[in-house]
Amino acid sequence: MPARVLNGKQTALAIRGEVAEEVSKFVAEGGPRPCLAAVLVGDDPASQVYVRNKQRACEKAGIEGRLQRLPADVSQAELMDVVQGLNADDAVHGILVQLPLPRGLDERQVLDAVDARKDVDAFNPGNVGLLMQGRPRFLPCTPSGIVQLLHRYEIPVAGKHVVVVGRSDIVGKPMAMLLAARDGSCGPDTANATVTIAHSRTDDLDAVVRSGDIVIAAVGRPEMIRGSMLKPGAVVIDVGINRVDDKLVGDVCYEEAMEVASAVTPVPGGVGPLTIAMLLSNTLQAARAIHASGQG
Ligand code: NDP
Repeated sequence: MPARVLNGKQTALAIRGEVAEEVSKFVAEGGPRPCLAAVLVGDDPASQVYVRNKQRACEKAGIEGRLQRLPADVSQAELMDVVQGLNADDAVHGILVQLPLPRGLDERQVLDAVDARKDVDAFNPGNVGLLMQGRPRFLPCTPSGIVQLLHRYEIPVAGKHVVVVGRSDIVGKPMAMLLAARDGSCGPDTANATVTIAHSRTDDLDAVVRSGDIVIAAVGRPEMIRGSMLKPGAVVIDVGINRVDDKLVGDVCYEEAMEVASAVTPVPGGVGPLTIAMLLSNTLQAARAIHASGQG
């Protein structure tokens, strides 16, 4: 029997609907309209599409989406000024710096400068630390979208062996933290997993992946995870977005996985839409917290 398709697009629409309802309630109760400011440097076509999609999603949820465009040759100092300006702007609740930044700009310095209370991507070192300690301010968008997907499809995680392939700061590492967290401390109660993080230096990756009840691929290599690497009945979450011959493919060979796994996320229409939905949710949360502190 082919695997179940985990429809991230549908789940994301449901989450976005919930956020929209909460936003209108928040505003009706006297809260400010939540506002997400995106900073887009240069004219990378993929980044432009991502930012446009995020802005559209904001508007549909009743969140104001601002866009600050800067030329690719902007100086580090000018970019830092823009971020500081958004930090100081009481009408802005969430700040998103679209990555990657053009070469020559210090990404780390820019991300570190984002006010932790407005850091809806959860990249700020303080927010990463809070997540590590199981008391997150914001849940990182892609990993928490995946947790939501597992939760809403009622896929048990507690006690299961999850293999996360990839150890980036954006996906792999925070993903592992969320899944290994104690019940409820990092989102819905789909935690308490036993987590292995694999990467490019892992010995016998095939065997490691085959030991996973749940496999989360965040590598950035088209169709690298083959059906033969999966335990029969595994749940496969494909984070990868790779453009091959003008088509988007994941890090997992979808057709092969469908034959072996019990559930698989497609690309596109899997994890991608969830990332945006969680960004909206974090923006509302930021607006609530800033408003409650009397500063916006
Ligand atoms: P990075 O390039 O930052 O990290 C990739 C990770 O994969 C690294 O840890 C690397 O290991 C590991 N890796 C690379 N080659 C191999 C290999 N042959 N075997 C095992 N591990 C390997 O990527 P990101 O985490 O930022 O993104 C991963 C993918 O997810 C990309 O396709 C990206 O486009 C996509 N993405 C999708 C999102 C969504 O919303 N759907 C959001 C963010 C990313 P090492 O550390 O040893 O180099």
